[in-house]
This record gives sequence, C-alpha cells and structure tokens, in this order.
Amino acid sequence: MTTDLWLEEHSYFKPLAELSAQVDRAAAGIDVLDARIPDWEDYREDFLAGVPLLPSNAAAVDLEPGGRMTVALLERLTSATFSGKFDEEARALDAELRRKPEVSRRIADFLLGDETFAPPFPGLLRYLAWTATARFLRPVVNAFDGWRDEELWVRSYCPTCGSLPAMAQLVGVAPGRRRLLSCGCCGTRWQYRRMACPFCESSNDHRLSALAIEGEKYLRIDYCQACQAYLKTYAGEGNESFFLADWTSLHLDVIARDRGLKRMANSLYEL
Ligand SMILES: [Zn+2]
Ligand SMILES: [Zn+2]
Repeated sequence: MTTDLWLEEHSYFKPLAELSAQVDRAAAGIDVLDARIPDWEDYREDFLAGVPLLPSNAAAVDLEPGGRMTVALLERLTSATFSGKFDEEARALDAELRRKPEVSRRIADFLLGDETFAPPFPGLLRYLAWTATARFLRPVVNAFDGWRDEELWVRSYCPTCGSLPAMAQLVGVAPGRRRLLSCGCCGTRWQYRRMACPFCESSNDHRLSALAIEGEKYLRIDYCQACQAYLKTYAGEGNESFFLADWTSLHLDVIARDRGLKRMANSLYEL
C-alpha cells in the first residue's frame, strides 16, 4: 500500500495531509542542532528504576536546542503563505513567543510538562515543538535504541520522553510476532507484551480484543475489556512514519470514541 493510494481512498484526510507535509517541509529546512549522546552508564540506574531518559537528571539530555529549532520552525512557517486558521494561529503564537524571555528553554520545559508556561494555542505549540524536537533527538533516540535492553523496559510509557503510546505496531511473523508501542511525541518505538493491556495496573491476564475496521487492511483498534482503553494498531510493516503518524488514523479515534472507548495518550493533532 503506497501512501498516495491510501490518501486517494481517504480523501477526507487531504487537508491534514497537506498541512502535515507543509510543516514537515518547513522542518526539513531548518538546521538540526547537535544533541549530546548521554553516558549510558550514568543513566543505567534511573533506567532500571523506570525513569525515562529525558526527565532523568543522570542522563542530562538538554532539550533547549529543540526549543531553538521550534522557534526557527515557527519563523519559517510564518514567512510562508498559508491560509486560514492555521496561519492565524501560527502568527499569533510566533508573536507571543517573541515576547518571552528564554523562550527556547521554556518550550523545552513545556514539552516535559511545565504547566507554568501558558502559550496561546498550546496544542499547536506542542505539535510544532515535538516535530522540531524529534528531529533534534533522532541521534539520541537511535543510540538509545541500540543501548536499551527491551526486556528491561516492559512499561506502558515511552522510555525516552515518558508519554503514553499513541499507537502500536505488530512486527514479524507468527508465532514470533512482537508488538511495539509507538510514541506520538518523540517517535520512539519500544517493545511491549503482545497480549496485555498497557494501560491498566493489573494487566497480566487481560486479553485485548481486536476491532477490525472496514476497508482498513493494516489498521485496527485493540481495546481492553477491563479498562475500556484502546490503542490503534498498525498491523503492517513499512511506511511507519506515515501509518504511525497518529493523524493518518484519526478516523479510528472517532470510531473508538463512538463505542465508548477511551484514548489514553494525548494527541498532537488537537489543533
Ligand atoms: Zn516519547
Ligand atoms: Zn486495560
């Protein structure tokens, strides 16, 4: 399945696809600042205790350059012509951020949960800031993937940034098929038990039910009968950046919500 063909079949996603492509193009045009790869031995104890990488003082990853890249991304977006609501909001956000002292530091803290920073259009800032910061973090995330023992992080939240998974992916072939959880913020994927719900405390014996979606060969909704939480699942391989992007499966969120199921992760697309 190519992404073009898929978009033909889901023409209602075209405005969002265009917006996302425009933001991605702008992001590709900004300089990627250097990220320092942490000393993994310094971080090991926190890792074993379940502390994600970015909030760990021992790992000491500084996200401030990601904040600078966010400012550069916003500048680039507002210098191009857009139309409509996105354009207005981006300009208002840009104008407001220009007034803030140490804004790149504030953006970095905002991504890690600082609630004292109250920007206009926080959803838009979160989306743009994670788009820019994920590019900044990519070498760190890749190095972390190489170092991390997946068996030692069977947790429901992202080992890098601590967010709950926006999606899951099934990889490999039966009987050795594995499930990866996918972070909608920093883009990390990590392994999780195949049959357990990642969201309820006593998850060991709860089986997930799978809900097939008509017309979707590769996307489905897995939900937990015990806690009613659901997780959109990409049951294919390839084109991960597209099929795990969260916005490409927003129609599944609508279906799940109509069935009374709960989404646990924040969405970057509540723009
Ligand atoms: Zn993450
Ligand atoms: Zn559950």
